Amino acid sequence: MLNIGCHLSSSNGFVAMAQNAISIGANTFQYFTRNPRGGRAKEIDHDDLKKFLEIGKNNNFTSIIAHAPYTMNLCSSDEKIRIYSKNLLKDDIEKTELIPNVYYNLHPGSHTGQGVKTGINQISASINEIITKSQNTILLLETMAGKGSEIGGNFEEIAAIINQINIKEKIGVCFDTCHVYDSGYDIVNNLENVLEKFDKIIGISKLKVVHLNDSKNICGSKKDRHEKIGQGNIGLNGIINIIKNKYLRNLIFILETPQENLNGYKDEISNIKNHLN
Ligand code: FE
Ligand code: FE
Ligand code: ZN
Repeated sequence: MLNIGCHLSSSNGFVAMAQNAISIGANTFQYFTRNPRGGRAKEIDHDDLKKFLEIGKNNNFTSIIAHAPYTMNLCSSDEKIRIYSKNLLKDDIEKTELIPNVYYNLHPGSHTGQGVKTGINQISASINEIITKSQNTILLLETMAGKGSEIGGNFEEIAAIINQINIKEKIGVCFDTCHVYDSGYDIVNNLENVLEKFDKIIGISKLKVVHLNDSKNICGSKKDRHEKIGQGNIGLNGIINIIKNKYLRNLIFILETPQENLNGYKDEISNIKNHLN
């Protein structure tokens, strides 16, 4: 069974997101835990959450994905931002703990001049301070395009973070197709090779979620500009290949393509499903 959904606005709560997901043929979704550009997290409405869990069960939902805001940077050169980010992570995980099947996706961070090694040390140290053996939330480190001083633009950096994490069973990886492609892995012509590399360096069992995006730019551009499925340089065939791949087909696929409204996602999901038959 294909597990697919898209990024949705969380402004009307969990029930609204579930209803939107169902209306476009999805059985999961991703949402920002708070305004992506910063600000306070909305308090969880327990009644809304309870109703959502019921809807999810009745509609065979798989795990949902909470995405950290872009303002989180666990390895900023500014200590104030590092502390803010660590508190934000702690606060967000307290909230995702209310949801039984959830992944918490975060961008590893940008070292802002401190160097990759220092950045990796700071990211893993902060995560080690916060995660616990008893939590059910699994953190996902997202593969990045490698723009600016972003960490996670190659598999080695992701592996280096995970290697320094004490409770490794609470850490997984999210494979963003646009980011991986832009960072220089040719998933159009050499998907098998790229995934074998991933397996050797990180371990394929760490892979839990795929962010399914086409790319406006070419492989190795290090740009990170998402495109609609089939309208970028990965192309519809490339995307379908990714979904059908034996290592990936049972994972959760989340569309983060630029769409004006829900209908755009609905069309992409039905187009993808048609190509799988
Ligand atoms: Fe992301
Ligand atoms: Fe992404
Ligand atoms: Zn992106």
